[in-house]
Amino acid sequence: MKGTLKIATLFNIPVFLHWSFPFIFLWILFLGYQIDAGVQPIAMLSVFFISIFTCVVLHEYGHALTARKYGVNTRDIILSPIGGVARLEKIPARPKEELVVALAGPAVNVLIALILLPILLIFRDHGIFIVGESELEVLSKWNNLGPLILGTNVLLGLFNLIPAFPMDGGRVLRSLLAMKMTRVKATKIAFIVAQISAAGFFLWGLFFGNYILCFIAIFVVITSRFEWKNVKRAAVLEGKDVRFLMQPIRTRLYLDQSIREAIEVSNEQEKYFLVFNHEDQVVGALFYEFILHAQASNDLDSPIEKYISQSWETVLSHSPLENVIGLFQKRGYGIVPIFENNQLIGQLDIDQLNKFVKSI
Ligand SMILES: [Zn+2]
Repeated sequence: MKGTLKIATLFNIPVFLHWSFPFIFLWILFLGYQIDAGVQPIAMLSVFFISIFTCVVLHEYGHALTARKYGVNTRDIILSPIGGVARLEKIPARPKEELVVALAGPAVNVLIALILLPILLIFRDHGIFIVGESELEVLSKWNNLGPLILGTNVLLGLFNLIPAFPMDGGRVLRSLLAMKMTRVKATKIAFIVAQISAAGFFLWGLFFGNYILCFIAIFVVITSRFEWKNVKRAAVLEGKDVRFLMQPIRTRLYLDQSIREAIEVSNEQEKYFLVFNHEDQVVGALFYEFILHAQASNDLDSPIEKYISQSWETVLSHSPLENVIGLFQKRGYGIVPIFENNQLIGQLDIDQLNKFVKSI
């Protein structure tokens, strides 16, 4: 992947560092500078962050390896300063499976805390309590590292269970709802809950001057909306082929007709045309902007042939609508002819397509 560095491959799943990851160390230096820390506290802060990111990787492997149990592969795990993400190839189909996969991540953090707990209680004088009055004092004692890692894992587990996308709690909520209703409806409710939670985070952050919380709130708003749009879109498109949006061919333009004739025979609403030869085969596309261009340069008597575009391709009538939308987006088509059994049966233009995509 672009802008990432592979650091390891475990269980056949590669782990990548996002390019922004090293900024964590700049941040550590900044934190150290703020509290006037020497080498030792900065070293401890670095070890602490590396340990926490190791826990984050383990959390992501919790998701990935549980998903594998249900036959879902994970493309990779990406670590950035704001956390990790295991990119699953798809979301497990059954709500119960999604629930287990979502819970597996925070469960890893709970497990780490449960392993650390007895070790600290037995081997450390102050058990799980952090020693020191100031941040500098806390960071000056290596034996505070254990309790810090334990506490952070508890926080990580709890934080991820907040019922708002993209936190695991959002998926937990959606999968629980999806046991009682359709996935689309469940996602819609989870999306609304995420928006309300985000508004809460934002106000809380603003009120208490915790701007990281405000930043997280904005992130929640964007990602939950994205999730909702994707699920809704997939549901609307499911099972539909290009015939769903196909239009009849209203205007047939021919290569040797003039632009003036094109204006006369077309109506005002049409902006994209298929152009035919005299064997009635599609040979190109004409866009309204080209007509305007010809008009502006006083070239109305030139043949259409001079202005046609070769940016089009034949689409078969049973092509999934999803693929055709992708085709328009990728290749920048304005109009395509639709064929069934070698017969031209209709057309689809970008205006019609955009209108539909916007309505989803
Ligand atoms: Zn997670």
